[in-house]
Amino acid sequence: MLGLSIKHLLGAPVGTAGEDTIEVANAKDLFDADDLVALRGDITAAVHMLRVEGGFEVYLSDLSADLELECHTCLRTYAYQLLVEKTMPVFFGLPGTEEEQDFAVDTAKARLPLDMWLREEILLGLPIMQKCARKDCHAPTPMQSSAEKEEDTQQPFAGLKDLLQ
Ligand SMILES: [Zn+2]
Repeated sequence: MLGLSIKHLLGAPVGTAGEDTIEVANAKDLFDADDLVALRGDITAAVHMLRVEGGFEVYLSDLSADLELECHTCLRTYAYQLLVEKTMPVFFGLPGTEEEQDFAVDTAKARLPLDMWLREEILLGLPIMQKCARKDCHAPTPMQSSAEKEEDTQQPFAGLKDLLQ
């Protein structure tokens, strides 16, 4: 679990702002095996927190993640450096707050759990077209046999014989 300590802000009055940085060297569990994205290296970001009624309003700036993506064309993996200048603010709620919360403050450990949020921000920041820079990047040649292809094209006529009988 990836968390950020907010001990100094928990008891602070509404309006108090805090800033911290996160540097995650190993968060390989952040993505599932079927996400088509994996971490190659670090995640770093500046975390901006504001104590508000019922919790904290938090956004990230200079989010950087060293990723491995799958090329949409050749289907091979390639390295990609994700950079997000500034995220939208989210609300981390304290227990008992009636405000609608995006995430819950872990009051027992006095910290903000960041896993889910980081994961979401990284997935949101991915390029729409994922393409590697390899010179030989092209769609893989289908390995299906020509026999299978033939079967496909012949299918429209498969029922014809029955119709004529
Ligand atoms: Zn490619």
